[in-house]
Amino acid sequence: MKNKNKSILEKSIEFFTVKDENYPLIAEYPNNIMIEVTNACNLQCKMCYHKHMRRKAGFMSENLYRKVIDKASNLGIENVGLYTTGESFLHPQIFDFIKIAKNKNIKYVYITTNGNALNEYKIKKIIDSGLDSIKFSIDSATKETYENIKIGASWDKLLNNIKLLKKLRDESNSKLKIFASFLITKGNYNDLFKYNSIFKDLIDETLFSFVDSQAGQVDANSMIPDEIKEKLNKLVGSSNETFPCGMLWHRFIVNYDGTLTICCIDFDGKLIYGDLNNSTLKECWNNKKMQNFRKIHREKKFKLLPLCCDCDFVKNDVNKDRDKAKIIKNIIKLGENI
Ligand code: SF4
Ligand code: SF4
Repeated sequence: MKNKNKSILEKSIEFFTVKDENYPLIAEYPNNIMIEVTNACNLQCKMCYHKHMRRKAGFMSENLYRKVIDKASNLGIENVGLYTTGESFLHPQIFDFIKIAKNKNIKYVYITTNGNALNEYKIKKIIDSGLDSIKFSIDSATKETYENIKIGASWDKLLNNIKLLKKLRDESNSKLKIFASFLITKGNYNDLFKYNSIFKDLIDETLFSFVDSQAGQVDANSMIPDEIKEKLNKLVGSSNETFPCGMLWHRFIVNYDGTLTICCIDFDGKLIYGDLNNSTLKECWNNKKMQNFRKIHREKKFKLLPLCCDCDFVKNDVNKDRDKAKIIKNIIKLGENI
């Protein structure tokens, strides 16, 4: 199956599974880079560590951004994600940044957003910018649930923004894909059954997944719905096997200040291995620090690394991920038949 035809679920499962089972310390350059254009956020979602982040909020400068995109383009990188820990549409130059990447022939530029920093003007700019896909973190199907779990957000604003974007996308020649994600927690479990009736015609594809601990930074256990707790614990706890994480082999992750980290949920900058203010992507990718991080993962000595030591992702293999996806599919089917 060609990569572009794969579902977003399948792509995310493959991303976390390291392709080369020798787990080389010197790795090939990745085809993907995520750039934290800002770590600022306008919401305080209950399932997110963001509100406790110790790094100062900041915005990437155009100068640094151009430097990063130039080097990424020279390395032949095709996929650029313009977000990690914050809300990218708060960046005043986000539309210029998308255009800069597209003008450098980056094939696929994508953003995940909470959708609440958008308005009519910005939505028109999204269509004009050449962005390839946008993913809304929706996590709900009712106003009550949404505003209860995503503190500071407005359901009406989200819904109107998605509707307008879909309308403008369909009326233009835009190839923009409109995706969504739904992170299942206790607080939104019942909304799963209503989700499709609201979003089926608005969203091209939705990625459903279970709440996770963001590498031990939030208490996911208390948020897992009682209805599926047993099933899920059995699945994840069924083996003590662990696996090196794809983040260290498949993706560059750049913070707004130019530092490089191995993980896109490294809110506090605990896993830094380079700095693009005084070195290049190429120089950093296989530097001593990065090789050491890969060695720790290859030897499965996760206890030696903050975050990775508490991360659910090292306990997931491809099969477990697919089994989890099946559980979700069955829940949704069950709900539709009620
Ligand atoms: S989940 Fe996203 S929108 Fe919500 S607080 Fe975290 S970074 Fe912000
Ligand atoms: S914390 Fe470590 S194991 Fe977990 S996703 Fe990040 S890099 Fe991978």
